[in-house]
Amino acid sequence: MSAPREWIPAGAASIAAAVREGKVSATELVRESFDRAASVKAGADGLNCILSSDRDSSLRAAESHPVGGALAGVPVVLKDNIATTTLTTSCGSKILEGYTSPFNATVATTLQQAGAILVGKANMDEFAMGSSTEFSAYGAARNPIDTSRVPGGSSGGSATAVAAGLAPIALGSETGGSVRQPAAFCGIVGVKPTYGLISRFGLVAFASSLDNIGVFGRTVDDSALAMQVLAGDDTTRDATSAPRPAPTFRTDSRDLTGVVIGKPREYFPESLPAPMREQCDRAIDALKARGATFRDVSLPHTDLALPVYYIIAPAECSANLARFDGVRYGMRIAGDGLRGMYEATRSKGFGAEVTRRILLGTYVLSAGYYDAYYRKAMEVRALISKDFTDVWASGVHALFTPTTASPAFQIGAISDPYEMYLCDLFTVSANLAEVPAMSVPIGRVQGLPVGGQIIAPKFGEADMFRVAYALETELGVEAHR
Ligand code: GLN
Repeated sequence: MSAPREWIPAGAASIAAAVREGKVSATELVRESFDRAASVKAGADGLNCILSSDRDSSLRAAESHPVGGALAGVPVVLKDNIATTTLTTSCGSKILEGYTSPFNATVATTLQQAGAILVGKANMDEFAMGSSTEFSAYGAARNPIDTSRVPGGSSGGSATAVAAGLAPIALGSETGGSVRQPAAFCGIVGVKPTYGLISRFGLVAFASSLDNIGVFGRTVDDSALAMQVLAGDDTTRDATSAPRPAPTFRTDSRDLTGVVIGKPREYFPESLPAPMREQCDRAIDALKARGATFRDVSLPHTDLALPVYYIIAPAECSANLARFDGVRYGMRIAGDGLRGMYEATRSKGFGAEVTRRILLGTYVLSAGYYDAYYRKAMEVRALISKDFTDVWASGVHALFTPTTASPAFQIGAISDPYEMYLCDLFTVSANLAEVPAMSVPIGRVQGLPVGGQIIAPKFGEADMFRVAYALETELGVEAHR
């Protein structure tokens, strides 16, 4: 094989098999990843998807990687809010510029044990707040399909890295859609697991009751493989981790006979642009062709999901981000006394969106407003969860919706924060209800990729993947990218 550059697009499952068979070495794969990174970095249109990387340390890791693992020799990229002892964990923020963690996140260790090689930490919206990666303190990442556009966010750098072929697998984090939306915008697969399925030990917290680590892959099978490696009990280090038996998400079945898929009317509003609707209809026909039956269903509290999310997420973020005060982590700016130091550090260290969320969150939690906002939001959240359990109880196995209402927008096109929040319209409910959901490429609108979302009951990942495999196979893997 004279062209090692062809390995990464072949995907993680093929790469790991080739490494195990001795057809390619982990060091060759690291070189391929870094060669690609160098080529996409060049020029003003650089994708800006990687915040830190170190070729030599990746090569060293490749030389000593464990043989025979499920991800043997597979280059991986992690979002920069996942703690690793090599490279930075900046969270896309000035306040953690150059910060290196003293420990590894469980997912980082698990990937390493499976043979994967870390090749970079990915750009992101500051502290994972945003939908475009434009809120990174280190500049916007660009969509590899059209570099004048955003890759989505907040895990935009991870999505870009996979779409641009730097790695077949990347990890992101999800609080309200930050894996699924960038996956849709970049034409790849993005998975948000059931809350608790993948350990969050070492994930810098944004909103603890909503946060998940999620997976990007070029194909459904690569995503299922990575999820299978990562899912598992970590209760000793993450109290929210679910003690579950080792899962099997990969399957050869492409048959959906007997599977009932719900089409929630709230996710297909009048305002959904016709080209988006057409792509969804095509996907629905593809699923029917594989034997699925469709049923119109309703999730009646859907219109409350976004307002509820934008109370709960800022409230929890205001508590979680209190630790960044210049004392223990990252930057410290001297001020008048201790209070002055806190003020100077936090006002210089946090960007505008993070500051807005902290202020909003502090307000909704403050005495006198807690009941009116936070408590009420938690009550409505319970109603949103019940919408889903009612649908499952009616005999529906999974739901199909668009992932977003439109394809990737131009960098700089959205300046109103509220308009940016609307990007999460179809994704936040799954986080509020703690159910798994994934985005699969289904076609193109204005020449840009769009995704279809599959949502399943809690711990129903196997069914979710079964639907995704069938969809991808029927539509054709490459045709829609
Ligand atoms: N875009 C949403 C927000 O800004 C979701 C972010 C996320 O999932 N991390 O909060």
